[in-house]
Amino acid sequence: MAFEGLADKLSEAFKRLRSKGKLTESDVKQAMREVRLALLEADVNYKVAKDFVAKVTERSVGSEVMESLTPAQQVVKIVDEELTALMGGENTRIDMASKPPTIIMMCGLQGSGKTTHAAKLASLFKRQGHRPMLVACDIYRPAAITQLQVMGEKAGVPVFEMGQIDPVKIIKGAMRFGKDHGNDILILDTAGRLHIDEELMNELKRIKADVEPNEILLVVDAMTGQDAVNVAKAFDDALGITGVILTKLDGDTRGGAALSVRAVTGKPIKFIGAGEKIGDLEPFHPARMSSRILGMGDVLSLIEKAESQMDEKQARKLAKRMQENKLDFNDMLEQMLQVRKMGPLKQLLSSLPGMEKQLRDVDIDDRQMDRVAAIIQSMTMEERSNPDIINPSRKRRIAAGSGMKVEDVNRLIKQFEQARKVMKQVGRGGKGKRRRMNFP
Ligand code: GDP
Repeated sequence: MAFEGLADKLSEAFKRLRSKGKLTESDVKQAMREVRLALLEADVNYKVAKDFVAKVTERSVGSEVMESLTPAQQVVKIVDEELTALMGGENTRIDMASKPPTIIMMCGLQGSGKTTHAAKLASLFKRQGHRPMLVACDIYRPAAITQLQVMGEKAGVPVFEMGQIDPVKIIKGAMRFGKDHGNDILILDTAGRLHIDEELMNELKRIKADVEPNEILLVVDAMTGQDAVNVAKAFDDALGITGVILTKLDGDTRGGAALSVRAVTGKPIKFIGAGEKIGDLEPFHPARMSSRILGMGDVLSLIEKAESQMDEKQARKLAKRMQENKLDFNDMLEQMLQVRKMGPLKQLLSSLPGMEKQLRDVDIDDRQMDRVAAIIQSMTMEERSNPDIINPSRKRRIAAGSGMKVEDVNRLIKQFEQARKVMKQVGRGGKGKRRRMNFP
C-alpha cells in the first residue's frame, strides 16, 4: 500500500520532536527538513514539497504551538491539516446531471486502468441504486470493446457498443438507447494511447464539445509517480478535466502522485483504485488519507467498504438466525464469501489505527479462508445445517472432496460447535438482562 516510506519517516521525525518536550524554533525547522526530505523521497513534486513545508513551519513556530503543553502534538495536528488541504480538503463527489443521463467521460493513457475503473465506477453506481451503462468508445482496438464487455459482465452492468464508428455517433446512440431503457448514468470508455498525442486530444476535445459530459475523469496510474502528475497536467491543459481517478495504489509504495495531483493541476482526486477486483474502488477522502499517512488508520473507509459489500437483507436475516441460535455452516460460508469480496485481509486490517506498520512484514494467508470454504462446500446441505450427522466416513469423504485432511474437518466442526455454544450463552444473557430491566 502507498505511503509506507513516508509514514515511517514522518513517524520518526515526530518521535524525535515528542522526545524533546518544549520545542525551539530550530527543533521545528530540523523536523521540517526531515519532512521535506521524506516528501521528496515519496516522489512528491519538488515545489509542492517546498510550499508544504513552508506552510507547516510558518504555522508551527507561532507562540500558540511552541508554548502549548503538547507542542509536538500540535505540530502533528498542523501536518495533518495541511496534508488534508494539500490533497483537496473535502471529498469531491460526482457532479450528477440535474436531468438524466449523467455522462461521465473516462480518459487516460493505455494501461492506466481506464477500462477497469469504468467498470468499477459503474458497479459502485449500481450498488447505490442507479442504472448505469458502459459505452465502448475505443474504436481503434477491437479488443478494447471485448475487454469492456468482460468487465461490464463482472460489474453486472450493460455495455453499449456499435463497433468501430465515430465515437460521437456511438455516444448519441447510447443516449437514445439509455433513454428507452432507463439508464441514468452513461460511462464512456474512450480510446487511450501509449503517449499523449494531438490526434487523441483532438478526438477527446470533439467528444467533449459535442456531448458536453458532466464529468471528465482522468484515470492515472499512481505507480508512475510524477509521470502521473505530468500526464494529469497535460490532459487538464489540453482538454480540461473535472477530476482524477488514481489507480493501482495497491502497488504504489511511495504515494507522490496522490499528494501532488491536486496541488499541481488544481483538480481533485475523486476516487482511488487499489486492486484489480470490481469492488476495489473508494471515494477519495483527503482527511482519511492523511490519517493513514500519519499512522492513525482509516476506520471510516473500512466501515463504508463493509457496508457497500454487505447485503442489508442478508445481514438482518443473519442477525435473526444468531438470536435464535440457528446459525449453521451455510451462514458461516455466506459470511466468509462476503468478507473475501472486500479484498485481501491484510489490506482490510491495515485500515485500523497503527496496524499498517505492524502488518507490513506479516504474511496473512487469505487462502486459509478459502480452505475452510472448500470444506463447507464439500458437505451436503443437510450436513451444513446439522453437523451432528457427519459420521467418520462422511468426514473422510468431505476431507477428500475439499483436498484437506480429516483433522482439518474435525477442527472446523469443533470450532463451529464452540462458537455455537458461546452464541447460545450470549443469547441467554441478553434475554436475562432484558427481563431484569423490565422487572427491576
Ligand atoms: P486501460 O488500458 O487504461 O483500459 O487499462 P486496463 O483497465 O486494461 O488496466 C490495465 C491493467 O492494470 C489490467 O491488467 C488491470 O487488471 C490492471 N489494473 C487496473 N486497475 C488496477 C488497480 O487498481 N490495481 C492493480 N493492481 N491493477 C490494476
